[in-house]
Amino acid sequence: MSDCCATESTPDESPDQGSSCCAIPEGAAFPCPQCGTEGPVVGERPVQPHCPEAVEGGWQFCAEESCPVVYYLEELVVSQGEVRTQVGNKATNMPLPVCFCFSHTAEELVADRDSHDGQSTIKVAIKKAVSEGFCACEHLNPSGQCCLPDIHRALKG
Ligand SMILES: [Zn+2]
Repeated sequence: MSDCCATESTPDESPDQGSSCCAIPEGAAFPCPQCGTEGPVVGERPVQPHCPEAVEGGWQFCAEESCPVVYYLEELVVSQGEVRTQVGNKATNMPLPVCFCFSHTAEELVADRDSHDGQSTIKVAIKKAVSEGFCACEHLNPSGQCCLPDIHRALKG
């Protein structure tokens, strides 16, 4: 569904074009209300771990390092002080997650595994979300890579 997004890593390249394929299901992409950078649309899934009451919609990630806004949906904003883990290159003073899309830390992964007889329910949930196209590793993980290998490593170690 969102394969096209994987190659789009320069959201501010053509600000006046506004025809990113990613934006089609949710309407037009908007510039960040704080800094004006047009960030990639990531949807509500990566926002909800930080902000469980976040409404569904075409949430966007502001990748501008100096901007305090992490996620925004038109005028709604989730800023660096409101996230529970680091997101992309934002909120670097917060815990570093293994999975940037859904904000799971290594500690949470291990605790979840140990409380489910060695079976990680988080990994299952992430795999399901990835297969349904709800992850945005290419935008949210500073490495630009899918987090599944890192999750596997965290669960082994
Ligand atoms: Zn911004």
